[in-house]
Amino acid sequence: MTLTTEQEQPETSSDQPIVVLHNPAMHVRRHLLFNRLQKALPDNTFMIASTGDFDADLKALKTACQGARLLIAVGGDGTLNLAVNAIAHTDTALGVVPAGSGNDFARIWVAGLSAKDIIHTALHGETINIDLGQANERFFLNNAGVGFDAELVKRLKHRTWPRKVTYITRALQLLPFYRSQSIVLEDSSNKVNAGLLPKSFMLSIGNGRYFGAGLPITPHARVNDGVLAYTHIKEKYRSSTLRCLAKMVLQKHLKAKQVQSGQLEMVTVKTAGIPVQVDGEYLGYSPVHIKVCPGALKINKL
Ligand SMILES: [Mg+2]
Repeated sequence: MTLTTEQEQPETSSDQPIVVLHNPAMHVRRHLLFNRLQKALPDNTFMIASTGDFDADLKALKTACQGARLLIAVGGDGTLNLAVNAIAHTDTALGVVPAGSGNDFARIWVAGLSAKDIIHTALHGETINIDLGQANERFFLNNAGVGFDAELVKRLKHRTWPRKVTYITRALQLLPFYRSQSIVLEDSSNKVNAGLLPKSFMLSIGNGRYFGAGLPITPHARVNDGVLAYTHIKEKYRSSTLRCLAKMVLQKHLKAKQVQSGQLEMVTVKTAGIPVQVDGEYLGYSPVHIKVCPGALKINKL
């Protein structure tokens, strides 16, 4: 495995256009940030609003990004997911302007930055390469999940993660009805116990550390180490699963007996019919093959 580091940058020209992808349903408090960004944009900027139709939006975005030096995504994790699927393995760099309700990737990327610094980083930051994950054909920037969290995403009316309190409330509502299932894994790197995982509550695979609007599910994840972090929660008793979720808020869940964690390069969930989510977007049912794509994304950092 080659560790991902900063790589030689292609020559870019300020004549190359910038594309701005924004979610019209962005969090109301973020409109101010968007307005500020718009004032800082050069003339050769194309604005694209997402519609919620992933396939149509991706097609339009890929076309717009041809020859673009920068794609600035203004939205939450769902908007970032759309953006990375358009520019993975290309020379177009990503600029991150968080404007969703969860912003789980932004928590590790622009945490603590002022509005001015967020916009400066998105437009003029240093361009580096980081990893992406890929679940079947779909790239993800932050997190993929198989099991309970994906079932939760599937049932939520909103397509993206809600705020943390809402997420926890909905999780508690779903918990009594969710049935953990045994899953069969194929893990060529032998990082997770391959074979049968009995009573699997959820398998979370992270490029980023947070999901569910700030829950540190994979605190051991790094975006440029060439591997994905995983956290697997096995169900023993429902009460112990509940305690495990409560410990997650305090980032103490990895020490629980029913939790396995580590890093992997690829894994296949062979069992059919288990829900899968990527970056808080419902993807469908397993089987699913998940792998790391080292250095697949160019992104601007402070
Ligand atoms: Mg990693």
